[in-house]
Amino acid sequence: MPSTQFPLDIVVIGAGVAGITCAQQLRLAGYSVELVEKSRGMGGRLAKRRLTDASAGATHADHGVCYLKPKDATFARLVQRLCDRGAMAVWTEKIHELGAVVGEVVPPQSRSARYASPQGINALAKAMSKDLTIHYQQRAVALHSQAEGWEIETDQGLSLKAKALVIAVPTPQAIALVEPLADLDDETLAQLKSVNYSKSIAAIAVYDPEHQATAAQLPWQGINCYRHESLAWVGLESSKQLNPQQPVVVVHSNMAFGEAQFEAEDRQAVGQSLLEMAAKATGEAWLAQPEILQVHRWGYAFPQTPLSEPYVEAKTNLPLWFAGDWCGGDRVESAFLSGLALANQINQQLKGEALPELFWQVLN
Ligand SMILES: Cc1cc2nc3c(=O)[nH]c(=O)nc-3n(C[C@H](O)[C@H](O)[C@H](O)COP(=O)(O)OP(=O)(O)OC[C@H]3O[C@@H](n4cnc5c(N)ncnc54)[C@H](O)[C@@H]3O)c2cc1C
Repeated sequence: MPSTQFPLDIVVIGAGVAGITCAQQLRLAGYSVELVEKSRGMGGRLAKRRLTDASAGATHADHGVCYLKPKDATFARLVQRLCDRGAMAVWTEKIHELGAVVGEVVPPQSRSARYASPQGINALAKAMSKDLTIHYQQRAVALHSQAEGWEIETDQGLSLKAKALVIAVPTPQAIALVEPLADLDDETLAQLKSVNYSKSIAAIAVYDPEHQATAAQLPWQGINCYRHESLAWVGLESSKQLNPQQPVVVVHSNMAFGEAQFEAEDRQAVGQSLLEMAAKATGEAWLAQPEILQVHRWGYAFPQTPLSEPYVEAKTNLPLWFAGDWCGGDRVESAFLSGLALANQINQQLKGEALPELFWQVLN
């Protein structure tokens, strides 16, 4: 893997929503920016998984983020712009809940739009990452602070050099990278260490097409499971798609179940138990009999103790900043706002001026 010979202005570690937003703003402002991402695709927890190929009638599921529910005006405009382009749409206005009686699913008191994408929820990351240079399947493993700037090393032997560094990953992954730095200040490390994450396990299930008529008649598309001892969410993923041929369901465990079962050896059995609990809780017995069952473990699902600041700046000799959902919240929206605020701050420091919302340019 060749090394980049010239020092970049900025390297961003992590191509989730926070990293992409920050990098895109900086690129459009004229900085040379590259990202390193440990996975095969961008989006992080804004995740889509392909489940069957075209020959079997292609289908997929959002196995991380379930939907977007914008509150902030800029984020709402971004989601609306994606809707105007056909990349997102209102999925549902009603998220049901489990009732007090087992097998009972009750509608909500109020309605509000939840957005998703027929092509998969990572459509937002795809749109925002246009023209960015992202080095995939490159896990940043070591940082070196040198006279001329940062050197970022990956597990595949890639070496990037940059004048400034942005780390846009969950705090435990950030700590693993920065704790060895000799000049990292105690205050920054303490801030990072104060943010803890929940774990969650996702069961991703595809069903026989014979159940599609039943699924299409269900009164619910998504169910919040606050009352359940192990479940957090049951989502009828196929209802996000335009012409589904077979039901696809994602069940998320709650934090307690995620903690208890995270290291279980038989992951398929854990996924099957989630489906069985979902079948019982909803009164839909067929949910326990998938044609395909996949299981994904989220080691860093939601920050439990987010910071109120939109980014963190370390007091290191070389410029080093942190961004992510954990800076200001625990959702996609906070990740987006964190990336935006950090790009603005970097430009303030380097060029002494505020950065307008340049990212609209890639959404035209
Ligand atoms: C099960 C689940 C359901 C959720 N549901 C919702 C929902 O319905 N609505 C909502 O708004 N939010 C939801 N969230 C939360 C949402 O996913 C996050 O808030 C948001 O996606 C965080 O974005 P981020 O950019 O901060 O971090 P991430 O998405 O975690 O991005 C960080 C990226 O950094 C990469 N990375 C990490 N370490 C390294 C390294 N050393 N080198 C290179 N790359 C690295 C990761 O692979 C990842 O791509 C959900 C999360 C989960 C897990």
